[in-house]
Amino acid sequence: MIDRSRSQSLFDEAKNYFPGGVNSPVRAFKSVNGPPVFVKHGSGPYIYDEDDNEYLDFCCSWGPLILGHDHPSVRAAVIDTVKSGTSFGTPTIHGNRLGKLIIDNHSFIERMRFVSSGTEAVMSAIRLARGYTGRSKIIKFEGCYHGHVDSLLVKAGSGLATFGVGSSAGIPPSFVKETIVLQLDDEPALEEAFHIHKQDLAAVIIEPIPANNGLLLQRDEFLRKVRDLCTQYDVLLIFDEVISGFRVGFEGAAGTYNIKPDLITFGKVIGGGLPVGAFAGSQHIMRHIAPEGPVYQAGTLSANPVAMAAGYAALQEVLKEGFYQDLASKVKTLTDPINSHAEEHKFPVTVRSIGSIFWICFSRESIRRADQINSESMEHFKKLHSILMAAGIYLGPSGYEVGFVSSAHTHLQLTNASKIICQSLDQIFS
Ligand SMILES: *Cc1c(COP(=O)(O)O)cnc(C)c1O
Repeated sequence: MIDRSRSQSLFDEAKNYFPGGVNSPVRAFKSVNGPPVFVKHGSGPYIYDEDDNEYLDFCCSWGPLILGHDHPSVRAAVIDTVKSGTSFGTPTIHGNRLGKLIIDNHSFIERMRFVSSGTEAVMSAIRLARGYTGRSKIIKFEGCYHGHVDSLLVKAGSGLATFGVGSSAGIPPSFVKETIVLQLDDEPALEEAFHIHKQDLAAVIIEPIPANNGLLLQRDEFLRKVRDLCTQYDVLLIFDEVISGFRVGFEGAAGTYNIKPDLITFGKVIGGGLPVGAFAGSQHIMRHIAPEGPVYQAGTLSANPVAMAAGYAALQEVLKEGFYQDLASKVKTLTDPINSHAEEHKFPVTVRSIGSIFWICFSRESIRRADQINSESMEHFKKLHSILMAAGIYLGPSGYEVGFVSSAHTHLQLTNASKIICQSLDQIFS
């Protein structure tokens, strides 16, 4: 085993300051072995922990780092901008630059507002949808994560699918009542929910590429059905593209499926590794936001100039010719050999992917709904995670989480990683 003693003692210390020793729960390594790694620095596709272990990083800060760590142009933009101060609470040219770059290159949106996280983007988009329609209820799908917004921390209850229960303590029952939870991949349930609630429905929110509970790639027809029903009943469709935005293509899932949602939420990649989120849509809908309209939304650090400059530098890189094709081919270099190996040895493993997102799934069945994931298979993930950590490969510490490949990963590194993953599977299933 590699030495992680400094991480262990830092984690023990952190428990004196933070509940569970962390500032975001999945970081605590609850579903895998050992202490969380305290990362000291990152460079390209690698991270280095406080014990000086090197790992090829497939977590990439949970998605923002599409260019890998410490990309030269993002670093230069941050350093350059920070020399003029860090925050003014006024508009700056940096917000205009990033806004223009996005709106000029994204054909599904006309106006946007910057916020500081994905959660904030979703929370604000929901309020806008309610303010715009004058209705209150929201449909969401089991297995889609939309940040820690009260009314979206709701999961399907047992029995009648349309009555949800809070998935966290502290969610008032009156909020839970405003959220209808459906399974993905189920058109009849969707039609029924529209039929029952049509008078009260403000919006349907979906991760069009659900990537927070495995990678539950949807059928094109299902996504189109969601769009059609929203149009038919005058309900707003919100694509939560906090992961998929600028990740599976500049126009995200909207561009990939060629479906126009009414609102899109962004986060992660949009800030180049700094805290940025945004929500966006047509001019007609977005003008309901204050100060143009009656829906209040504000932020002291919104469109922070340093974060805007980082996002601008990062998005300029992804707009370069061939960027997304290169990334997608890198993912295949990683996943194809693992899939062939698993197939050949009849291991219950498939690696699913779209763009530069991948998920190691311990099943050979096609999985499109959260309730099709076998929770017992997560024991395999736990073993895999330990073996890979020891071999210098870092996956996010939960089998429900997807992995990310960045443009800094090379084909050679990915080929090597895929060999190590195949050997690990041999070890797990022999
Ligand atoms: C990460 C994520 C969020 C929440 O974003 P934060 O920046 O963590 O608040 C919301 N929706 C989706 C789809 C996400 O992946």
